Amino acid sequence: MSNTAPKRPIGAKKFVLLHHGRCYRDSFHYRIGANAEIVRLESDDLSTQHPNSIGIQLMGDFDKEPVPADQLQALKDLLLDLKLRYPAVQIGAHRQVRGDRKTTCPGRRFPMRELREWADTHLLDQRDDVLREVIESQYRP
Ligand SMILES: [Zn+2]
Repeated sequence: MSNTAPKRPIGAKKFVLLHHGRCYRDSFHYRIGANAEIVRLESDDLSTQHPNSIGIQLMGDFDKEPVPADQLQALKDLLLDLKLRYPAVQIGAHRQVRGDRKTTCPGRRFPMRELREWADTHLLDQRDDVLREVIESQYRP
């Protein structure tokens, strides 16, 4: 073992913070448009406000309106991709960040509880399916 080995393990914990279009912040790593298109704005490694966090903004005012189904599906696709790259990733709402200006972001109607339940169950199943396919494609005789 080398003494110069990095102390932080590969796949260090990342915290995914969710925002909506009415957020007062103006810097995010990903933006999901009202048309459900995912746009990468910054490299994951670039720290915007919080180290080790990745900001995702979903366009829309989710204090007033529910998140459209296809936009929510795009978010789930992106979260699966992030989960495969950062195994310990956790999902949080901007309003949970301590020390930030008071906000309802990502909106009162954003389905945070439903999304967390999905992340604890279906997201892990989908991740396992992807990993199984990768392994089988590499080791099939
Ligand atoms: Zn926000």
